[in-house]
Amino acid sequence: MTTMPTDPPADGLGDGLGDALGDAQEAVDEACRAAAAAAYGWRHTEAFARGRVLMAIARRMLADLDELVATECAETGKPAALAEAEIRGAADYFEFYASLVHLPSGDVLDVRPDLHVYTMREPYGVVGVITPWNLPLNQAARACAPALAAGNVVVVKPAETTSGTTLALARMALEEGLPPGVLTVVPGPGSTVGTAIVEHPLVRKVAFTGSVPVGQSIGRIAAERILPLTLELGGKSANIVFADADLDFAAAEAVRAFTGNAGQVCSSGTRLLVERSVHDDFVARVVALARRQRPGHELGPMITDKQFETVQHYFQVAAEDGLVPATGGTVAVAPGLAERRYVEPTVYVGVTNDMRIAREEVFGPVLAVIAFDTEDEAVAIANDSDYGLVGGVFTADMSRAFRVAHAIEAGQVYINSWSTQSVQMPFGGHKASGYGREKGIEALAHYSQVKSVSVRIDPAPPRTAARSS
Ligand code: NAD
Repeated sequence: MTTMPTDPPADGLGDGLGDALGDAQEAVDEACRAAAAAAYGWRHTEAFARGRVLMAIARRMLADLDELVATECAETGKPAALAEAEIRGAADYFEFYASLVHLPSGDVLDVRPDLHVYTMREPYGVVGVITPWNLPLNQAARACAPALAAGNVVVVKPAETTSGTTLALARMALEEGLPPGVLTVVPGPGSTVGTAIVEHPLVRKVAFTGSVPVGQSIGRIAAERILPLTLELGGKSANIVFADADLDFAAAEAVRAFTGNAGQVCSSGTRLLVERSVHDDFVARVVALARRQRPGHELGPMITDKQFETVQHYFQVAAEDGLVPATGGTVAVAPGLAERRYVEPTVYVGVTNDMRIAREEVFGPVLAVIAFDTEDEAVAIANDSDYGLVGGVFTADMSRAFRVAHAIEAGQVYINSWSTQSVQMPFGGHKASGYGREKGIEALAHYSQVKSVSVRIDPAPPRTAARSS
């Protein structure tokens, strides 16, 4: 089901914005009412039946993979192989949570002999989901699948420029048997449609994936409404390479970590911390591999013009700090690249952790390399960040690998690999990277709330006195 607000007229600000806001509120209201009307039925649908619908949605996404990939590529410009992997991942979410519809379950608590006390988990009801443009369908599925599995109904607002595959998901879900109103997409601007979702009185939980400033503004509204949130925000994740690591493999992983989706990934490894004794050798390998990422082939474009401008701005910021890129640092120009705006993979060496290029999320294929001498120093640099989304450590010393993984302030850490994420692995941030968790069984706890029930057990009737013989 889809509800569309009309765009503001291009010729006037005052009335146009007022109209746009009114249209957005109306579209969101309609979607929320439809969702609320469907909530009881979906929640009380037998769990197996709910699971079967979610599984059918997963199969349908795979059956219509080509169509979804084509839509995603048209809207983002990303390489087809990458879009395909992301959409297969989106189907995985539905398959995984289809098999978990009986969870989360409750407990029986041993309180008193005359009480039967148990806990149960209940859905919130209407869940608002707001997603960004970098992995459009994958991010929508990441939130929608567990929310639906836990018995909620969902109103989704995808990013303005990349709504196509989320709209297709809702259509396919309806065709596969998801009742009308259970999953509704309201496309449109964040400032109108997004805000209207967060403010709507029928919405009882919001899962937001996006930038810190928007997460903060949603948090302010949520504070007024006592609205539970899952916030999946940005990152400036550290990837720590010790001298004893398999340097060839670590270099390939370090490049994958910052160039995947042209760096437009919240969990990119954008700070590379390298032990000083192998620093120059390792950087040479990274630079050589980064240069092999060909824009328009392995490397996709900046998905929005605004993001392209942001990356150009950070080239300027780095230059003002006296940094000269070891590679990249410029617009990628090559035959066939005219339709989209690309930047070359960019590596800055000699960065210190106080520089803006080491502290702020660029959201492009830009790497800041920082040298360190000791394990403690590496951990201190990794944790000296406002963010705490993910982290990586490469070393042959497994005791050190565990020590460092446990010391890194982040929701997910990879040892001797980068971003080996899976649907099963809970994902989410520390510090400004957000709170709550997506993925894994863990996500179900964030899309449900606990109720405890106490039942009095009547005392047994007095026992008849035993007969004396
Ligand atoms: P953004 O915050 O600008 O927008 C995200 C979504 O929020 C969009 O749908 C947008 O329309 C909507 N929005 C904008 N203003 C709003 C408002 N006032 N109220 C409600 N909704 C509003 O982010 P973006 O530029 O689309 O995405 C990039 C950011 O997302 C990066 O910071 C990245 O790190 C982050 N991100 C995080 C994760 C994660 O899982 N932690 C995943 C992907 C992206």
